[in-house]
Amino acid sequence: MSGGTVLKPAAFLDRDGVLIQDTGYPHRPDQVAWIPGAAEAVRRLNGAGVFVFVVTNQSGVGRGYFPETDVVSLHRWMETELASQEARVDDWRYCPHHPEAALSRYRLDCSCRKPKPGMLLDLMRRWPVDLGRSFLIGDKPSDLAAAEAAGIPGHLFRGGNLDTTVRMLLGTGV
Ligand SMILES: [Mg+2]
Repeated sequence: MSGGTVLKPAAFLDRDGVLIQDTGYPHRPDQVAWIPGAAEAVRRLNGAGVFVFVVTNQSGVGRGYFPETDVVSLHRWMETELASQEARVDDWRYCPHHPEAALSRYRLDCSCRKPKPGMLLDLMRRWPVDLGRSFLIGDKPSDLAAAEAAGIPGHLFRGGNLDTTVRMLLGTGV
């Protein structure tokens, strides 16, 4: 990294249960119900100079419920929906694996499936992230464990309006 690189804080967001409702392996646009305040929250983070990264376990791939291409297409669709509200996700990571996946090529005790921190660490390597001012928002203990393993605080989102949560987090130290 060059000496002139400016580090920025990052918000690592879980997908299901944080940006969209966790309706049980959603993988098509018609299955998506946005969390209230999701686009506003992402837009607020963009405006505050905070990277927005999505880190999502998608073991439905390994379980054979849907192909990996569905995950990628859904994320492209989400990007378009967010862009229509002037909100931008800077980068996405998903983990298709599961130690007991039905499909053998995904049957793996990987380092990316949360609670492991692989997806976060990968993003931290690729982007100039200021770790001291970064955080994760997730809806499960495994999300918070991944954050802790990556060396950043995790905030448990218990539902409600995501923008309210982000406003609170930005007001307290980021
Ligand atoms: Mg979740």
